[in-house]
Amino acid sequence: MAALGQKRKAEEFVAAEEQEKYSLVVRKADFKFNAAHFCAYKGFREKLHGHNYKLGVRLESSSYGADGYILDFCPVKKAIRAICSTFNERFLCPVHSDVLKITKKNKNIELVTEDGSFFSFPEDDVLMLPLKHTTVEELSSYVWSLVTEKLDLAQRGIDTLEVTVEETPGQQCCYRRRVKTGAEGVVQNDE
Ligand code: ZN
Repeated sequence: MAALGQKRKAEEFVAAEEQEKYSLVVRKADFKFNAAHFCAYKGFREKLHGHNYKLGVRLESSSYGADGYILDFCPVKKAIRAICSTFNERFLCPVHSDVLKITKKNKNIELVTEDGSFFSFPEDDVLMLPLKHTTVEELSSYVWSLVTEKLDLAQRGIDTLEVTVEETPGQQCCYRRRVKTGAEGVVQNDE
């Protein structure tokens, strides 16, 4: 199946000059969610507060497909809107925190901080995240992994994905990383 995938990829993509690079930037007005959180590390924690977060992505490729697209905007928008919906109106809970005691009691998620403060949130209002801190740095790399799960970027010849998470105007983090391509051992077929 790997050989078939590589052959199809070779047929579908228009050859491009080595130095050419296309960037597809997708940042729509509704790529947003509001969420509550606080950052905490040894000896410090913020007070509980919220942000109106915004997401954006940049997809890079040295070629586009025979259909003229790097990737159709529609699946990109659908993927980002689904991620925003998952995060919207939740408390962002960093389950790998080294300073929070996080437990589930009945239908509530309870947190005890280093200074002994106690929070209890209804389970449905909490998004458990595999992070140590809910900073824009850690959120942007996590959203990067969610986007790559939802979109088959390598199959479209996309080599780099950048995710931007903005927590407030003028404060954002861009996480940029190469996407694994078929040549690096992952060839996916949709048959
Ligand atoms: Zn904050």
